[in-house]
Amino acid sequence: MTRHIGIAGAGIAGLHLALYLQKHGVDATVITDRTPDDYRDMRLLNTVAHHHVTIAREDYLGVNHWRDPKDHYYYHDHFFNFPEPLSFPGSFSRASRAVDYRIYLPTLMEDFLHRGGKIEYRRIEDNDVRSLVDRFDLLVVATGKGPLGQLFTYRPEHTPYSQPQRRLCVGLYTGVRHPDPMNVTLSVSPGHGEMIVIPTITFGGIATALLMENVPGGDMEELASLRYDDDPKQFLQVVRDKLEKHHPTTYDRIDTARFDLTGPLDLLQGGVVPTVRNTVVEFDGGKCAIALGDVHSVVDPMMGQGANVASYAAFVLGEEIVNSDVLDRRFCEKVDLKRQDRVLAASRWTNLMLQPPSEAMGMLIGAMSQNPALADEFTENFNYPDHQWDRVSSPERIHAWLSRVTAPAHSVRATA
Ligand SMILES: Cc1cc2nc3c(=O)[nH]c(=O)nc-3n(C[C@H](O)[C@H](O)[C@H](O)COP(=O)(O)OP(=O)(O)OC[C@H]3O[C@@H](n4cnc5c(N)ncnc54)[C@H](O)[C@@H]3O)c2cc1C
Repeated sequence: MTRHIGIAGAGIAGLHLALYLQKHGVDATVITDRTPDDYRDMRLLNTVAHHHVTIAREDYLGVNHWRDPKDHYYYHDHFFNFPEPLSFPGSFSRASRAVDYRIYLPTLMEDFLHRGGKIEYRRIEDNDVRSLVDRFDLLVVATGKGPLGQLFTYRPEHTPYSQPQRRLCVGLYTGVRHPDPMNVTLSVSPGHGEMIVIPTITFGGIATALLMENVPGGDMEELASLRYDDDPKQFLQVVRDKLEKHHPTTYDRIDTARFDLTGPLDLLQGGVVPTVRNTVVEFDGGKCAIALGDVHSVVDPMMGQGANVASYAAFVLGEEIVNSDVLDRRFCEKVDLKRQDRVLAASRWTNLMLQPPSEAMGMLIGAMSQNPALADEFTENFNYPDHQWDRVSSPERIHAWLSRVTAPAHSVRATA
């Protein structure tokens, strides 16, 4: 049976779905407002790290173009700027890596086009939706945080905030030394925010993304509005001063003479409101529009989940489309049931980490600094936010996890 799927949006959600359907011989048309050429001159979009589950999906789709191991990283380095500073590593079982999305997204668009895929370039307005629903058997709305997503209503029970919880200042920089082997550093300055340091493949080779997650009212907040263009030297001086105070292990990696943005557009400032939406709108006649990616769930970037989960959800939806004869409300319900545990877990876990740590979370952090197996499991679960949520969603679960991992070897054997 021939089905025609319409996909609004060519971010990771729309493109991973389009490429999945293409691989399985399902007709898919992408409609998006940017051409591949538009990306080259755009402001930095984000600083996305792909965990190994996402890289495995790229392998499956035949779009993993960034295979050089020297561009990959294998562990997180955690640093807590407590009065008695704490630091410990946590390893992944397989490599992760980050590519500037102004390279990543147009490359995947070209892959889709070269394999015979169809992309229509135009902006979709609210009043275009009905005709798109009529035109396709299913309309997938993957247009990110923009206004079209408002077609889908909020889920207040999963949307606890009405304001961004962090004021972001994120840029791509030269002059930040990479550790050997490379890692992602997660640095915490209690009361002021976090900083995630990511080696990133950019137009000019490997550079360093500094994602500063600044607590509103904290000492780092001014970085979210300080203008680089007005006075680049002053901007860089303020960044260095703040890092020296709040994120000293990263400050120590800076070579002042070379420290700068990789380009004037390589800075993004602002914030996101974590939001979960209902995912289905049914139209007269039973045809549906279904939400995917950031339209479904926007998370703060702190735990690196949005794009990874969007890719996961695209595969769940793709698999269901391939295996279903009817693309109706029941179909959408099944898709939702299959993807929601991981999608909601990513949102809940991230929202939890935006709050000051509970006593149990503090114990977990202390235990990870003493127990590499625990730190590795925590790190590996960046791939599986549903597993992480199983472990950290309540003090009881954190204590149960600590008991399991830190139990003496003989008691582990006794229960094995
Ligand atoms: C600073 C920062 C760092 C991040 N770091 C990470 C990370 O490390 N790991 C991680 O997993 N996630 C991260 N994220 C989140 C991640 O960027 C998003 O979750 C992900 O890119 C969302 O993908 P998407 O396909 O849903 O939406 P988008 O990437 O926003 O794609 C939307 C698409 O729709 C198109 N479009 C929009 N409106 C219309 C319209 N009206 N008509 C036609 N086309 C339209 C756009 O052009 C685009 O092609 C980060 C986000 C930020 C801001």
